[in-house]
Amino acid sequence: MSKNEDLFKKIISHAKEYGFIFPSSEIYDGLSAVYDYGPYGCELKNNIKSYWWKSMVQMHENIVGIDSAIFMHPTVWKSSGHVDAFNDPLIDNKDSKKRYRADVLIEDYLQKIEDKITKEVEKAAKRFENFDEQMFRQTNARVIEYQKKIDEIRTIFIRCMENSDWAKLKVLIDELEIVCPISGSKNWTEIRQFNLMFSTQMGSVAEDADVIYLRPETAQGIFVNFLNVQKSSRMKIPFGIAQIGKAFRNEIVARQFIFRMKEFEQMEMQFFVRPGEELQWFNYWKEERMRWHIALGMGKENYRLHEHEKLAHYANAAIDIEFQFPFGFKELEGIHSRTDFDLKSHQQYSGKKIQYFDSETNESYVPYVVETSIGLDRMFLAILSYSFVEEVLEDNSVRTVLKIPPVLAPIKIAVFPLVKKDGMPEKAREILKGLQQHFLCQYDEKDAIGRRYRRQDAIGTPYCITVDNQTLEDNTVTLRNRDSMQQERIAIENIEKRVWDLLKINY
Ligand code: ATP
Repeated sequence: MSKNEDLFKKIISHAKEYGFIFPSSEIYDGLSAVYDYGPYGCELKNNIKSYWWKSMVQMHENIVGIDSAIFMHPTVWKSSGHVDAFNDPLIDNKDSKKRYRADVLIEDYLQKIEDKITKEVEKAAKRFENFDEQMFRQTNARVIEYQKKIDEIRTIFIRCMENSDWAKLKVLIDELEIVCPISGSKNWTEIRQFNLMFSTQMGSVAEDADVIYLRPETAQGIFVNFLNVQKSSRMKIPFGIAQIGKAFRNEIVARQFIFRMKEFEQMEMQFFVRPGEELQWFNYWKEERMRWHIALGMGKENYRLHEHEKLAHYANAAIDIEFQFPFGFKELEGIHSRTDFDLKSHQQYSGKKIQYFDSETNESYVPYVVETSIGLDRMFLAILSYSFVEEVLEDNSVRTVLKIPPVLAPIKIAVFPLVKKDGMPEKAREILKGLQQHFLCQYDEKDAIGRRYRRQDAIGTPYCITVDNQTLEDNTVTLRNRDSMQQERIAIENIEKRVWDLLKINY
């Protein structure tokens, strides 16, 4: 098992053991790619949501929020293109009986060559430093060769994806001799298309349209409400509508824990702009969203931008913000310039005019849209992956700590009496009561103080307050910082302000 696989397994079991994430219906052996959030998990999730909501809605005068229903009129999904085009190309390995997304097999193959290039470039740099000119030239030539190969494969790959040419994509998989990671064989089926939407029945809709879908994205709830929101909140273009909500996709190849789920949550914002100004806003939101991520302090080096090779049917520009998960850099958030595709299409299918009158230009038009779309569960996984650390201490013991950005931590403060006597528990509970009005806190008096600190480390509590003998004399306590393990002495009356200061983020 590789170091990263091992780390990922540890993260998954830690998340279960400490009440962050449980497999759904576990007593019935679980349900594939569906998960439940436990007590700390739902706190962390709520904190991510409110942090995102605040930075989008509260901090922008021109962004408002909505909460639209999961069920929508079936024609919405015809209009959006999801009924006809929301497909994955799937391929089965006949020996392992495992199913894969054909496009992911190719992307993984290309990633492996890219990893090789990175290694060769590092080697070449060393040879250059050592004046080993001949070897430098050789490694350089190899890098050029790899790069050429990648470009060739990518060109064919993109063409296949754009034309949904699955026969050619299968030929590519055969030619590249891609093997199944489980069976190691090249014994593949043909590629088939598979629609990702879940459907169900709704009796009361007109006879010929009683199949309804569980929404595969929250965005359409925003588009169909464009005029309702614009008129009721008197918004002027450019303005945005934000929404957090569940989305459902029948992901056949759902692995990697909560990275790819069948039921998940999205935090989306659709920003409506003048036609022709969309690419300028696309760049604005690309930078703004990256800034939001970096401000959380999870390491600039853990993010990168990835431009789409194949644009969705509705987009004229698209970029992903990728995060370095234990299984590599993968999409965390998508920024898409969706043109006027959705509003125009709804206008056409519904027969209702969806236009905006711009009083500055005296023109009516269908606005263009720039979307920022981040998976709440993927953000959760990014935080968990970044924050899970096994630290070797000076005495060689190992402490497991979740270095969750403090502002997002499920429990903000734990309050302990040093010992269970001499009036310390009463004093600690009094402090707890005051702090509970502002923060989610925990009280713990069981076991030695060191073990109590460890328990809080494991769930990511950033601050621990301990009441000791001195507290009873001068009303001061110790405040221990999770990451540095340093303690400071602080007056009880200053705790609240101090913690607010520590939780501040410069965004
Ligand atoms: P992927 O390429 O990984 O399938 P996507 O490009 O289909 O993702 P979008 O349709 O752009 O994803 O959705 C926006 C965001 O929603 C993604 O960036 C991701 O964070 C999240 N998301 C999408 N599908 C899932 C899923 N099955 N499980 C969890 N989160 C998801």
